[in-house]
Amino acid sequence: MKKILLILLILFSVFTCGCTKKVPKTTIEKIKARDYIIVGVKYDSKPFGYIENGEIKGFDIDVAKEITKNILDDENKIKFVQVTPENRISKLMSEEVDIIVATMTDNEQRRLIVDFSEPYYISGQTVLCRESYDTKSVGALKRGKTVVVRGTTAEKTLKKMYGKKGKIEISPSYNMAFDIIKNEPDACLIADEGILLGFSSENDGYIVFNKKLTTEPYAVAIRKEDIKLKKYVNHTIKYLETSGKLAEMEDRWIK
Ligand code: GLU
Repeated sequence: MKKILLILLILFSVFTCGCTKKVPKTTIEKIKARDYIIVGVKYDSKPFGYIENGEIKGFDIDVAKEITKNILDDENKIKFVQVTPENRISKLMSEEVDIIVATMTDNEQRRLIVDFSEPYYISGQTVLCRESYDTKSVGALKRGKTVVVRGTTAEKTLKKMYGKKGKIEISPSYNMAFDIIKNEPDACLIADEGILLGFSSENDGYIVFNKKLTTEPYAVAIRKEDIKLKKYVNHTIKYLETSGKLAEMEDRWIK
């Protein structure tokens, strides 16, 4: 009898343990259970997300670290995954990453698929070309080839400017786009100002136009169902704004 009771007691404790153990369902629960967050960032977009001496750094990286600190009390509990403008939404939707902090513009088209935080930086598209380029008029671009990076909002600008005609090239990455500019004297690159200034400050002989073609509010992309995670992200951005830290980060990385 005693033996039977003991077996029943063991079985009961095994079952109740199994039943009460909470399986993490939402992304915020999963992040807390695994004790690190997975963030999609750029590796080729200085000064926002780039690799230097084997280390990942930049404005977006610092924003991602602040979000991590807010959720897990430690900015280092973070795993970075490289994303490109072309693959970042699919990496978010397939749950390869928890959030994206990657110079990503919040716009209506993307909002059909993903949700966005409040903006943490406002950029705008402009043009980079050789210093010898004889005019600063955007219309004169059509003389040479115009390059944009695939998956960026600049693709839409290019379509508006040229329709289906014109000398254009859509490049898979910023580094490859800049290689085209280096090799072809009349070629120009349309992209967000900060990224273009990153290239012109590192390479002699290039200018970035003052005129902005668009407004590009950068925001953190989140899956639509992740309402609680979005609250953490927005809370972080608000804190960075009100504490003056966001302005400090801008001074450090962009100005
Ligand atoms: N902000 C633009 C975009 O989201 C271009 C920057 C980029 O992500 O490469 O498409």
